[in-house]
Amino acid sequence: MLLATDCVVIGAGISGLRVAQLLTAQGVDVQVVEARDRVGGRLLSSPSGVDLGATWFWPNEADVVEVIDRFGLSAFPQYVAGNMMFQLPQGVQQLDGNPFAQQAGRLVGGMQSMASALAAELPEDTLRLSSPVRSVDVHDFGVVVATDSDQWQAAVVVIAVPPATAMARIEFLPVLPTDVVATARQTPVWMGAVTKVVAVYETTFWRQRGLAGSAMSHVGPLREIHDISAPDASFGALFGFGRGHIRDTEVVGQLVEIFGAEAGHPNRVEIHDWSDSPYTSPPNVADLTDYELFGSPLLGSVVGDGRLYFTSTETATDAPGHIQGALSAARRTAAAILAQTVGPPV
Ligand SMILES: Cc1cc2nc3c(=O)[nH]c(=O)nc-3n(C[C@H](O)[C@H](O)[C@H](O)COP(=O)(O)OP(=O)(O)OC[C@H]3O[C@@H](n4cnc5c(N)ncnc54)[C@H](O)[C@@H]3O)c2cc1C
Repeated sequence: MLLATDCVVIGAGISGLRVAQLLTAQGVDVQVVEARDRVGGRLLSSPSGVDLGATWFWPNEADVVEVIDRFGLSAFPQYVAGNMMFQLPQGVQQLDGNPFAQQAGRLVGGMQSMASALAAELPEDTLRLSSPVRSVDVHDFGVVVATDSDQWQAAVVVIAVPPATAMARIEFLPVLPTDVVATARQTPVWMGAVTKVVAVYETTFWRQRGLAGSAMSHVGPLREIHDISAPDASFGALFGFGRGHIRDTEVVGQLVEIFGAEAGHPNRVEIHDWSDSPYTSPPNVADLTDYELFGSPLLGSVVGDGRLYFTSTETATDAPGHIQGALSAARRTAAAILAQTVGPPV
């Protein structure tokens, strides 16, 4: 079926949802088309509010704070009190204090609640889930965006997908300029090569022993560990970052070595390998390491005959990689589209 709209937003991560919310608030007709069966992209929270994607925001991140305030979301400070642990091949040491102590905040219900709040504000039928976009054809009369079952014709299209992932999953016709394609293909996907692991416990047992729940490890599989317990400590949880395929038995073994025998009996261990998520990461994600490409002007300005806008966090000049970057990129794109005369395709 061919459907007409002013603007198609590809991707219902936080950047795509924010563009859609800003545009629809100004009366622009928008269709958001999302590959997964959920919103949020790299914001992914379990029903108990534990984050398997982004965890933190920082108080100086103006766009994040604006969205939190605007939607009445509840924030609380990251737990940092106590000592950090340090794991070396020779053994485990307890440091005096916690070098990770930082002013980060978390959201009650998890970071994905930010995406859910934005999605809930969109007009009815704006959002199409479980619909991977396969092709984007730029014509002089507009752009045609195709999924397996539908086609939309729009005046402009927002590619709210990490640029390298868009290049790997979507066919662009005619082919975009060589320098744009080369830059997009080489731009890293922030945290796209990371495996995030959360071990959930009955209690925050480490806190009672004066530990912050944070650790650095030169042994692995987790290299960096933090407390990600419930805001009211009704359950305890530790999370860490590693790479590639990680088994829960390896994780539990490491946590026992660092935090003691009580760490040996988690209620559950959740493991999310983001490199294995085709709508976050391209197959070569681990090889993409040139972070200088973040915020490249080539991807931050309109391409495709003035009709295509790259808009993931990787395209931001302000806090690229962070949620703040995704939101500031969205603000930039929405302003640019509103400055154009957006009308129904002819
Ligand atoms: C493990 C981890 C930890 C992180 N920790 C933090 C943190 O603590 N603080 C912080 O600020 N940031 C953190 N980040 C980064 C943060 O999550 C991202 O900056 C932000 O979520 C990016 O949003 P986005 O909308 O730009 O991209 P994405 O969230 O990647 O959204 C892209 C969307 O496009 C969809 N899509 C892809 N291809 C297609 C297609 N062909 N058709 C239709 N839809 C498609 C995807 O499914 C996805 O929903 C972390 C990320 C990860 C993975």
